[in-house]
Amino acid sequence: MNASSLANPAVLTQPVYEPGKPIEDVARELGLDPASIIKLASNENPLGPSPLAAKAAREAVADGQLYPDGGCFRLRQKLAAKFGVDSTQVVVGNGSNEILELLAHVFLRPGDEAVMGDPAFVVYKLATLLFGAKPVEVPLVAHTHDLAAMARAITPRTRLVFVACPNNPTGTANSETELLAFARALPEHVVLVYDEAYAEYAEHAPDLRQLLGAGRKVICLRTFSKIYGLAAFRAGYGITTPEIASLLQRVRQPFNVNAIAQTAALAALDDEAFVRRSIQENRAGLAQLEAGFRELGLTFVPSVGNFILVKTGAGARHFDALQRRGVIVRPVGSYGMPEWLRITVGTHPQNIRLLRELKAVLATH
Ligand SMILES: *Cc1c(COP(=O)(O)O)cnc(C)c1O
Repeated sequence: MNASSLANPAVLTQPVYEPGKPIEDVARELGLDPASIIKLASNENPLGPSPLAAKAAREAVADGQLYPDGGCFRLRQKLAAKFGVDSTQVVVGNGSNEILELLAHVFLRPGDEAVMGDPAFVVYKLATLLFGAKPVEVPLVAHTHDLAAMARAITPRTRLVFVACPNNPTGTANSETELLAFARALPEHVVLVYDEAYAEYAEHAPDLRQLLGAGRKVICLRTFSKIYGLAAFRAGYGITTPEIASLLQRVRQPFNVNAIAQTAALAALDDEAFVRRSIQENRAGLAQLEAGFRELGLTFVPSVGNFILVKTGAGARHFDALQRRGVIVRPVGSYGMPEWLRITVGTHPQNIRLLRELKAVLATH
C-alpha cells in the first residue's frame, strides 16, 4: 500500500504554489553572478527592510532561546491603537497567507463554496481546495473585480468571498462606495475577506473596517511583507469582529508568529519615514515604468500597487529571456494571461535596467 492511497483526497489533487524565483536559484541554474541579478517578481520592497525593523530584529536575536508570545500581545495592542479597534479584533499570522488558510480552516467544509475573482491571488483558490471546498471564480471586467457578478455567484453554500484591493496580479482597485455597498448586501451566511496587502501604496485605500462597528462579517487583511519590507520575517494581520478573531485564534499554532518577526513588525509600525519614502519611490517608479512601456509601444494596466501588468505578447518566453539577462519578473500564464508579465516596481536604476533588457528582448524575440 503506498502512502498516497492513505492520503486525504483533497491533498492528492492540491495544486502547488509557484513562488517568484529566488535570486540564488536563478544564479545557480544560469551560471550568473547573484550580485548581477535583480528580482522584480514578488512585489517585495526594493528599498530593503524598514531600517528600524531590521535594527530591532538584530537585537531580538539575543533572546532567541525564549518561545515567542503566542498571543502577540504587544503587536495586537499597537495595531488596535493604530486602527482604533479593540485588540480582541486583531489576529496576527505567519504572513497574511496563514490567515487566509485559517479562514478556510474555520469556515470551509467539503461541498462549501468560496467566491473569488479570476484572476486573483492564487492562494484564495489553494486554501479553498485544501479544505475540500469549491472555488467559484468570477471573471474580472476591465482587469477589475466585477462585484455585481460576484454577488450573483453567491449561493446558499457560499461561506467566503475574497476581494483583493488592489488586486494581484492586476494592480486595480474598486471604489470604496462600490465595496461598501457590496459588503452591506452580502447575506448573513457569508464572510467577506478583504485583502489589502498593498493598501499603504494607494492614495485613498478604501476602508472597510468601518463596517465592523455594525457587526458585519468582514476581515481586513494586511501584511508586513510589502511596504514594510519584511517578507522574509513572515508577519501579517487581520482586523475583524471579536467573534471571527477568536475562531481564527483557535485553529492557529500556539507560536505561529516568531519572536523576531513580532519585534520587527512592532518597530516597523514606528518607521513612518520609511513608509513615506517607499510610497514616493514607488510612485516615481510606476511613472518611470509606464513611460518606458509607452516608449516601447506596450499596453499596460494602470496600477495602484507596487507592481504592474504589461502586455509583451509572449509572457513565458519573455520571462525566460529576461531571466537569462539577470532580471527576474513574473509570468502570469497560470493566471490565464499568457501574453502578460507582472513586474514589481524597482528602484530607479533597477527600472532603467529592466526597461533596457526588455527592449533588447523584444528586439530579438
Ligand atoms: C503579497 C500578498 C499577500 C501577503 O502575503 P504574506 O503572507 O503576508 O507575505 C497577501 N495577499 C496578496 C494579494 C498578496 O499579493
